[in-house]
Amino acid sequence: MSTALELAENLQCAHLKALQPYQSARRLFSGGQDWLNANESPFSNDFTVNCDTLNRYPDCQPKAVISAYAGYANVGTEQVLVSRGADEGIELLIRAFCQPGQDRILICPPTYGMYAISAETFQIGVETAPLQTDFSLNLNHVLDYVGKVKLVFICSPNNPTGTEINEQQLKTVLDAYKDSALVVVDEAYIEFAQSSGCADWLAEYPNLVVLRTLSKAFALAGIRCGFTLAAPEIIQVLYKVIAPYPLPEPVAQIAAQALCAEGLKRVENQISQLRQWRQALLKSLENISQLTPVGDTQANFVLVRADKKQALMDHLVSQGILIRDQSKQLHLDHCLRISIGNEEQNQRLIAAITAFYQQEGQ
Ligand SMILES: *Cc1c(COP(=O)(O)O)cnc(C)c1O
Repeated sequence: MSTALELAENLQCAHLKALQPYQSARRLFSGGQDWLNANESPFSNDFTVNCDTLNRYPDCQPKAVISAYAGYANVGTEQVLVSRGADEGIELLIRAFCQPGQDRILICPPTYGMYAISAETFQIGVETAPLQTDFSLNLNHVLDYVGKVKLVFICSPNNPTGTEINEQQLKTVLDAYKDSALVVVDEAYIEFAQSSGCADWLAEYPNLVVLRTLSKAFALAGIRCGFTLAAPEIIQVLYKVIAPYPLPEPVAQIAAQALCAEGLKRVENQISQLRQWRQALLKSLENISQLTPVGDTQANFVLVRADKKQALMDHLVSQGILIRDQSKQLHLDHCLRISIGNEEQNQRLIAAITAFYQQEGQ
């Protein structure tokens, strides 16, 4: 009789053997009081759930959620797909448009890790066109892959650099790939940015796909709800691979409440509060000579290059403050990413960093 370990080793797909599960912020650390490591919102809002229909399967694409998000994003309802977070949107695109063992995607590191992880899980190759040192696209390099990849993932504002991709560059990429690939613009942080994103371009660019989420600005990471915006014909293809009931009924109810007029007003206020905290935090970080802000702050986090990065991380963990190490990413040696917390959390963070460098300086 085989042991479970032997079965796990012998039966799992060959391409999965070398893969590690995604190191989400939540998997890396579980304790702590100040969670500034997953770009979550510091706000938590109240919702009500009506349990009358929990004995029934939910709608695959709940109408109230779809029409509310279409209204919010100013697109047609047939251009919206709702899924378990934007992460599921990434996975559905890969499963629907890439042939395992044959097709490839293009990513532009340093960037969000899930594009490559999702691709590898389905045996899809990953090509890279690294961002330049100022974190703009290296257009020549991106265009080298025309005809060689099926999906191009561009994150704007980019996680973890907080930089936006210039509109002209994006349009050049969309044009270059117009007959051969979908260009997926991940706008998980668009509500915090200066620009309003590129959902408005959907009519003009049939190969554009926009990813959105309720996890960041809407302060709803816990419900797992994201959106894929694309031409109706592209959305129809995604229907072929999405689960029959991707969205639990309570999630649909909460999402619909978050997207009603009152919910949107509340989120708008929270975003402007967060922008103020972001400004204040950035200023405090800039005043610490051992830290250098890197990239931009178009999202709800700040990236800094830190002296004694590892000792600083360890000190913060000992104080119950969790931030995210990004130093293994391209161009980001010694870099740490700090999500914007509330005023008290940001103050505790600054006090802890200041104390650390004072003690180190002695
Ligand atoms: C957080 C994040 C996501 C995931 O969003 P979910 O809706 O929580 O799955 C997608 N893209 C980027 C760039 C993110 O930072």
